[in-house]
Amino acid sequence: MTFVMRRKAFDDRGEPYTPVVLAEMVRFAESDEDRVAARALQKMLRRVVKEETRRWSFERFLISIGLSIAFLAIITATLFLFGNMLGGIPSLLVVIFVIVAVTLADRWIAKRRIGRAIGATIVAHGICGRCGYSLRGLGITDNGCLVCPECASVWRAGRLTRAHWEPPKQPLAPKPTLAMAMRIRLLRPRMMTDSRSMLCRRLDSFLVSVGRQRRAELGAERCRQLRAAIRRPTLWLRLTIGVLLAAALLWLFLHWPDADTTMDGALMRFRVLWSCGVVILLLMLAGTLGGELGITARRVAAVCTEENLCASCATDLLDPDAEGYRICPSCGSSWTNPPA
Ligand SMILES: [Zn+2]
Ligand SMILES: [Zn+2]
Repeated sequence: MTFVMRRKAFDDRGEPYTPVVLAEMVRFAESDEDRVAARALQKMLRRVVKEETRRWSFERFLISIGLSIAFLAIITATLFLFGNMLGGIPSLLVVIFVIVAVTLADRWIAKRRIGRAIGATIVAHGICGRCGYSLRGLGITDNGCLVCPECASVWRAGRLTRAHWEPPKQPLAPKPTLAMAMRIRLLRPRMMTDSRSMLCRRLDSFLVSVGRQRRAELGAERCRQLRAAIRRPTLWLRLTIGVLLAAALLWLFLHWPDADTTMDGALMRFRVLWSCGVVILLLMLAGTLGGELGITARRVAAVCTEENLCASCATDLLDPDAEGYRICPSCGSSWTNPPA
């Protein structure tokens, strides 16, 4: 599958460019080694594009529901005004149409949004973001740049934080571990961009993605503080969910059938079981998603860079480089404080 990124990105001379089409990334590889590296990057980027453009999101869900209700209201009003009773099927079609339209629009926006980040990520791996030519072995100009011999795009040498000829670094978008998949499947932490626009997965607020070993290095107390700091702005959201759950439980309590009710006993039991199921689901949702809902990448980056940690893998950052970016030695992402 070929993704055409139309959004304009700029090289470090300020020239606009269209990032290389992923399908053509391997074309300029000169050695088997380069080809393997380019193919691995291509595979990762395809996965990320797919993930980013197909991710279920709470916002999208709300927008779909809101638009559907609005369209239904218009249809109902029209029917009422013209007295034409068409029944439920046209309304249902409208709802389906709206959901499909919103989903497609959202994917298109997501693709445009990450086009520029794709370019920066390719450059970070030592491959020209415009044409896909390997930047290996090029001389650095007086102002610290590399000039692509194929298309003359200019890239700052500092961008090449994950050059494909260097020892491999931690993956930027690791597939979720079982624990992550179980706990935060729907709201798996999104991809974010570092201060140099490179794509990386932001850590989750449970710090599951950070890994057991790194959590042990940070220590229980520091982990607790990090989690609390990342989640602080979403307190209102958790309160709202808590109130909704309390309301659901209260409803259940008030509608609990009397023990001696004989009328429609089977139906009553069905209702009770069904309500219990709903409440249990809600509780599970609140418990598992409460930590991830509403957390922005900006918040994670702000908290982590303040602590001098990588917002993707929580590794201690190196001292600022020549351009003022602090690099993560583990995954190669670049951060400024406050995050750009
Ligand atoms: Zn080039
Ligand atoms: Zn990192």
